[in-house]
Amino acid sequence: MIHVIYGKDSYSMVRELLESMKPEKEWNKGSLIALKPNLVVSKPSDSGATTSPEVTRGVIEHFKDKGFSNLVIMESSWVGDSTEKAFKVCGYENLAREYNLDLFDLKKDKAVKKKGKSLTLSLCEKALEVDYLINLPVLKSHCQTRLTCALKNLKGLIPDREKRRFHDLGLHEPIAELNFLIKTSLIIVDAVIGDLTHEEGGNPVEMGRIIGGVDPVLIDSYAAELIGLDVEEIRYISMSKQLEIGNLFNKDTEVKEYRLDNYPEITLEPSPRVKRLARYIVEGGACSPCYGALIHALSRLEEKGNLGKIPDKIFIGRKFRDMKSTSPGIGLCTAKFSKNISGCPPKALDIVKYLEEHFVKNN
Ligand code: SF4
Repeated sequence: MIHVIYGKDSYSMVRELLESMKPEKEWNKGSLIALKPNLVVSKPSDSGATTSPEVTRGVIEHFKDKGFSNLVIMESSWVGDSTEKAFKVCGYENLAREYNLDLFDLKKDKAVKKKGKSLTLSLCEKALEVDYLINLPVLKSHCQTRLTCALKNLKGLIPDREKRRFHDLGLHEPIAELNFLIKTSLIIVDAVIGDLTHEEGGNPVEMGRIIGGVDPVLIDSYAAELIGLDVEEIRYISMSKQLEIGNLFNKDTEVKEYRLDNYPEITLEPSPRVKRLARYIVEGGACSPCYGALIHALSRLEEKGNLGKIPDKIFIGRKFRDMKSTSPGIGLCTAKFSKNISGCPPKALDIVKYLEEHFVKNN
């Protein structure tokens, strides 16, 4: 099952989500629990690159309230950035001080070799010592692997030298093998703000939700559709499925949604790239989960060179509820439009497929 809560108040969203999910039900109270945010670079979470400290705060307080006191935070930023700087800039130094938690910069950790199914990987020793790993990724697009979410976030648990080797190996196979060797017990995806194009942020897009689950393959295959990607495009997901790390999202997967009456508004100032895509949008009171999906969909069409083939006016938002039009309309609010992409909010992949089917094929 996948859990999705909508909003922008990350802390209260995480608390509500975890109260419902009850991930700790069968966990031993004295266990060592590691929280692994995505602090790939030293940029605050509104850049679209890193996990909001408010997401992590929600997780810390949930587990502390349930009687778990042995919590640590661990991460290793990408090669070329300092994890210590990222801890400071991203708000984790203060968070650790406030809750008296250890912060582990895994760049300083010892490496241990472990044999996977087909590769031997070098892993950070501390990551192997924990009883439960809580993975806190950000929903982002990635220039090489297309998506970075739960499975790829474990790359912060390997030494820098191994990160370089992962790139030499083409990323997909070692990412799947890494998830074979290190098990995740809980995943909370920060999808309040993610990035449109790169893991280092810079083109932030509001997706207005937090996603919870325990299966990284399920979470990533669902996340891929949210940002307009076919799961086949991301080979490490199918490789992870083959390694029996988890199951793919499909039409029978149960998705439990919370705060459906509380979709947040758009608040971010668009980057130049987002602004360029937004020229195709006629917006009137759109919710950010819907608008974010449309921006991702337009970005996917642009990548394929198909942006020039779609109409230059796509309507989205609550103001169009009673309007009729022959222009394309996004979501339930434009249900009276003759070319309507259903959903509330729709997934970016459904928007991409509809626009390709109705406009690109005919051009
Ligand atoms: S369809 Fe309308 S109400 Fe639903 S998410 Fe989109 S803009 Fe919001």
